[in-house]
Amino acid sequence: MIKVEHLSKTFGPVTVLKDITVEINRGEVVAIIGPSGTGKSTFLRCLNLLEMPSSGSIHVNGVDILDRKTDVAKIRQKMNMVFQSFNLFSHLSALDNLTLGPVRLLGMSRAEARSRGMEFLRMVGLAEKWRHFPDELSGGQKQRVAIARCLAMNPDVILFDEPTSALDPTTVSEVLAVIRRLTSEGMTIAIVTHEMAFARDVANRVLYMDQGLIYEEGTPQQIFENPQKERTKAFIDRVRSFSYRISSPDYDLYAMNAEIEAFCQKQILPIHTRQTLLLLIEELLQIYPPYLGSAVLDLTIAHSEKKASLEVMVESTGAPANPLESGEQPDDMGLSIIRNLSDRIEYSRVGNKNRLTVLMKRM
Ligand code: ADP
Ligand code: MG
Repeated sequence: MIKVEHLSKTFGPVTVLKDITVEINRGEVVAIIGPSGTGKSTFLRCLNLLEMPSSGSIHVNGVDILDRKTDVAKIRQKMNMVFQSFNLFSHLSALDNLTLGPVRLLGMSRAEARSRGMEFLRMVGLAEKWRHFPDELSGGQKQRVAIARCLAMNPDVILFDEPTSALDPTTVSEVLAVIRRLTSEGMTIAIVTHEMAFARDVANRVLYMDQGLIYEEGTPQQIFENPQKERTKAFIDRVRSFSYRISSPDYDLYAMNAEIEAFCQKQILPIHTRQTLLLLIEELLQIYPPYLGSAVLDLTIAHSEKKASLEVMVESTGAPANPLESGEQPDDMGLSIIRNLSDRIEYSRVGNKNRLTVLMKRM
């Protein structure tokens, strides 16, 4: 359906896309992942001509869209894009946001555009908000209106550019649920996302982009469980772990816990696992206050889906090598909680740091 060959894009002296060759077939869901600044957005923007490629070719259903004679508005209608920042018309109601394009660009009657608009709002769960202006909607609702607006243009392909990155964590799932529904209805989709669990679940194919290239591509299983190349491996490892630095006894415990919860949500860990993890971390951190004035603690949580394991690592400067057995630890209760919640506890010394690694029991 979409055939991209040797696509490159430069901004002045900077080469952002190097030599991209890829095909997207009808009905396919392609997830594009990778570090920021590697050209993922630029790639999507080249596909629907929001950016003009510097060289290479793009064919859509056999038609060369870089041909001067191409009707750009038509291409954008067929390959409609959903942005991170919604891009709704703020002076128009939800429904009017949906009818504008079909009336002006598809020549639809107002009545028909409104009745179809209501159908699409219903499909994304927002029929009752049809009169509301974007300002009166939550981020998740705005993004669902943006998706409905996209559908109202009868696209063949939808390009999503980090559709949930600007959202409050509580509204991410409602947007993902709508996208998931589109994938199950056979829509052709290319989605740039940091929601790895989601990508893995809905995508047929994953493109890992790095430094302007499609560095590795494969099925979700290949990319997430068994990446072959070095930078892919490093990236996948990083997204499965969470780090937090504690550098003062007055650190913000609530902010840290909220970040841990958000991480658990992204990894789709069950609620009881999340609670156990928070308890384990709370108890582990109880060990350190006597040293916190002089020490910096680096907390890392590593999740391996393959092994179904959660590892908590605390690296510290300034604390004794094995703070659990330092003798200055009167809280036996805390210690026995830690032992009960873990399968393995290890101590090691790495450089000038002491590392305590706890493998959490999965219950
Ligand atoms: P990603 O979406 O993977 O984070 P982008 O495609 O947004 O990456 O950007 C890739 C690189 O291209 C970045 O270094 C960015 O600064 C640069 N870039 C993007 N758009 C422009 C532009 N319009 N002018 C100049 N540089 C740009
Ligand atoms: Mg981007």
